Amino acid sequence: MIEEQKKEILHKNLKRVEERIEAACRKAGRDRKEVTLVAVTKYAPSEVAALLPDLDIIHLGESRPQSLWQKAAEIDIPVQWHLIGHLQTNKAEKTVPLVHLIHSADRLRLLDCLEKIGESSSRAIAVLLEVNASREENKHGFAPEALPALVPRLNAYRNVHIQGLMTMAAWEEDPENCRPTFRLLRELKGQLESQFEPPHSLHHLSMGMSNDYPIAIEEGATWIRVGSALFEGLL
Ligand SMILES: *Cc1c(COP(=O)(O)O)cnc(C)c1O
Repeated sequence: MIEEQKKEILHKNLKRVEERIEAACRKAGRDRKEVTLVAVTKYAPSEVAALLPDLDIIHLGESRPQSLWQKAAEIDIPVQWHLIGHLQTNKAEKTVPLVHLIHSADRLRLLDCLEKIGESSSRAIAVLLEVNASREENKHGFAPEALPALVPRLNAYRNVHIQGLMTMAAWEEDPENCRPTFRLLRELKGQLESQFEPPHSLHHLSMGMSNDYPIAIEEGATWIRVGSALFEGLL
């Protein structure tokens, strides 16, 4: 397939996703500008991912740090990288300078490590707290009921800047069944946001993937992380 054909397919996929984003915003009475698409490029080779900025998609996400390092090196157009998967502390130092936002701050040990990196490099490190809202045993993230007691400890970070919450719903044949997970995250935000002090806030909710992003938008997502729906027909 030549590059022009790839771009055309990507454009078509993107148009379909954009229409569904707009429809979900309309249904929920939300402004389209409140929702930003992160294109998850983990299935796509760098030369396909590199076509996205031309289609006005500048937020790119990877779930594995090594893949993010590799793609960030191969794609030499300015983009904003998002880490959306588990970050081992020994990979944090190399990852931090490359990323716009870490969606997957899933434990205190990682946050403590990021705080130190931020301090020694005079850098503000933007993160979202990953919450295991679907309560699956194999998933990373804070237990929803554990977060309230942690707020004072989280407020003490100076170099780590918490910007919101992130979750991943369990896969469901009917995405409507993901709604309780997203609603739980939204309610947790409502319960805790007044307790966070600057530079922290719980403004953002990162939730929704190819299977369930319209439902996540209806429940208040500000970042959606969409991969396979964008790359259909290309891989
Ligand atoms: C892979 C991945 C996505 C995107 O998944 P799709 O179903 O392909 O849209 C979103 N979020 C996380 C954390 C992921 O690992």
